[in-house]
Amino acid sequence: AKETGKNNVQFYTQEMNSSLEEKLALLDGLRKALDDNQLYVEYQPKADLSSGLLFGVEALVRWRHPERGMIRPDIFIPLAEECGMIGAIGDWVLQQACHQARAWQAAGLPPITVSVNVSPRQFDDLRLVARVVEALNASGLAAGLLELEVTESLIMRDVGQAVAKMRELEAKGVALSIDDFGTGYSSLSSLKRFPISRLKIDKSFVRDLDTSADDRAIARAIISLAHELDVRVIAEGVETVQQRDFLQANGCDEMQGYLLSRPVAPQEIAVLLARQREA
Ligand code: C2E
Ligand code: CA
Ligand code: CA
Ligand code: CA
Repeated sequence: AKETGKNNVQFYTQEMNSSLEEKLALLDGLRKALDDNQLYVEYQPKADLSSGLLFGVEALVRWRHPERGMIRPDIFIPLAEECGMIGAIGDWVLQQACHQARAWQAAGLPPITVSVNVSPRQFDDLRLVARVVEALNASGLAAGLLELEVTESLIMRDVGQAVAKMRELEAKGVALSIDDFGTGYSSLSSLKRFPISRLKIDKSFVRDLDTSADDRAIARAIISLAHELDVRVIAEGVETVQQRDFLQANGCDEMQGYLLSRPVAPQEIAVLLARQREA
């Protein structure tokens, strides 16, 4: 038993060292990533469920590491958040997304909204509103075509502060949506205070719609809650026709997911928009 105990201790220590080393190595790489153009942005289409038309895209950041290949944003965004690099990265994504949306429009394609994810530290930054305005001005994109996605857990930490910040953004004409909805704990009374235009049903509730009566009930509840609040509702992570049909039959307004398209390069969005214009 003593032997095992000792081995366990060694095991844990090694694990901890390697994960710490791993983290430090990634962090070091992340500092160079922005300067060395290792980051880029992909765009995932969002479509209206009744018409099937593409009305917007979500900007999703990507990191192609020179030696390690693709590193998922689930890994490096929390790391960037922890070490204070999220400001620089988030700002860069915001600028890219605004420029890209303006570029599609300048190419004569139908205007679509572009959504950018905002993480907690970015949201708390006092300069957020100024940065958003700056990105809009620099790109020439109309504020009405930019949407920011904030997570439910972020806005529920301090409702009063979040409402104030969101009002400021709303006053600039920027739309706001609540991401990962259903995974946090929002009360109806606080939700009513947020100036939002959309709720996004988290993909964890969409995944098992076919098999889970609970998830079907949750999805329906979120849809009726959104409509009660007079906002649109979008489901993310829609992968199958069955999921889409259920959502549509239950009044969900919009969808996003692999069924429609994976996140893709800007040129592919241009192709989809051109096809839509011709149809
Ligand atoms: P999220 O904002 O909830 O984004 C949705 C994630 O679901 C994306 O993962 C997307 O590629 C993935 N997805 C889309 N359709 C499907 C589907 O049909 N099935 C499944 N299983 N997944 C689908 P991704 O791109 O790996 O991003 C993960 C998370 O990283 C995002 O979750 C977001 O929280 C964060 N993130 C990504 N880009 C940014 C960014 O520019 N800024 C910030 N702050 N966070 C970002
Ligand atoms: Ca999102
Ligand atoms: Ca989500
Ligand atoms: Ca998320």
